[in-house]
Amino acid sequence: MRQMLLQGLLRRPLTEKLPDAETESVALLHELDIAAQRRLGRSLAIRMVDAGSCNGCELEIQALGNPFYDLERFGLRFVASPRHADVLLVTGPVTRNMHAALLRTHAAMPSPKWVVAAGGCACNGGLFAASPHCMGGAGAVLPVDVTIAGCPPTPPDLLRGLLALLRRPPVSRRTGR
Ligand code: SF4
Repeated sequence: MRQMLLQGLLRRPLTEKLPDAETESVALLHELDIAAQRRLGRSLAIRMVDAGSCNGCELEIQALGNPFYDLERFGLRFVASPRHADVLLVTGPVTRNMHAALLRTHAAMPSPKWVVAAGGCACNGGLFAASPHCMGGAGAVLPVDVTIAGCPPTPPDLLRGLLALLRRPPVSRRTGR
């Protein structure tokens, strides 16, 4: 027992070197934060709405908050209220049950605002496109600014999509950004 305690005190922490994928993600997060500061003068606030997904996309989005990606260390954050959000991140096909809630969330966001469709279902209805309970992708009911393909998209895919959004030239017609 004493030896075990001694080992615990003297041994170096058992940590692994970050694999390349994570290093690339950290670089993406840095770029995203810089792009948000340039565009908004502050970090990006994201409101996510699951419009009817299988939860596969949510698992990947949730991974952005895990210790590997740790989105919030760069100030990027998911917010609970649409009134604090810059971006509406939509997952899943738009089901008839979620249609009104999705529109109300978008309407509650202050302008200027962006809409991002994450995952094949949010892009075009995906696997559920033919279902009578679905209305199609987010673009069928909202003005989508960026689509992120994948079933589900990986965390780096999501970061690249958000980065592409912030690097787009401003569109004064609708968003003014
Ligand atoms: S894109 Fe794939 S993972 Fe995402 S909601 Fe659709 S079926 Fe699920």
